[in-house]
Amino acid sequence: MNRSEFLKGMLLTAIGLHITPLSVFANNQTSYSTAQLTGKGGLDLLGSSQQLQKKVWKAYEEMQAAAKSKGINIQVVSGYRTYARQKAIYEAKYRRFTKEGRSAEEAIAEILKYSTLPGISRHHWGTDMDIIDANQPQPASVLEEEHYHGDGVYSKMKAWLDIHSESFGFYEVYDNSESRKGFQYEPWHFSYKPISLPMLEEFMCIDLDTIIAQGDLSGKHVLKGSFLHRYYMENILDINPELIP
Ligand SMILES: [Zn+2]
Repeated sequence: MNRSEFLKGMLLTAIGLHITPLSVFANNQTSYSTAQLTGKGGLDLLGSSQQLQKKVWKAYEEMQAAAKSKGINIQVVSGYRTYARQKAIYEAKYRRFTKEGRSAEEAIAEILKYSTLPGISRHHWGTDMDIIDANQPQPASVLEEEHYHGDGVYSKMKAWLDIHSESFGFYEVYDNSESRKGFQYEPWHFSYKPISLPMLEEFMCIDLDTIIAQGDLSGKHVLKGSFLHRYYMENILDINPELIP
């Protein structure tokens, strides 16, 4: 059993026992603050609109240059996202869905199909990005699976990334493994493993209940206990095993 399998087994056991798995692997790493891990500032960002951490941006530019020689123009459409931005998205959707008559539970379930909870998005880390090929005609909605496969406009880029992205440090997060739970397959979302792996490891030491409780989110009575643990297990930890510490 490798470490990743061991980790998953431990966490599944923890959730079965209704104990918090979040401190199980507490370690002494302190290179990122809670603020940095939850989108509340303090990261060294670079890019036209502060899109990625400086080191991530440099690796991204190298990958971009390599792809360019093959006629592929990789562009970030979504990189770093602040806590405030994620909270605004959450609250707007919550208002809309509850106005339509849904319960808090239903509204939150609907929000989480396409958005994350503020404070626990990988986009808070400055290591993750959603990318397209800017050399192609742009569809109305760019982040759709069909564009990245078959005769989709980004399928040439995706085929190139499948071979080359990992050599630049970028890994697909929400892969198309059939047994995976949590977020759906996202062929556009890549993460810079050399930094996101240690960040996830540190993120796992944070008390998630406190982060959520401090956020004073609408429907917060739903966002705790077994609901929050399941979200954590499926949406945060059930990802490409290469990205699990
Ligand atoms: Zn994304």
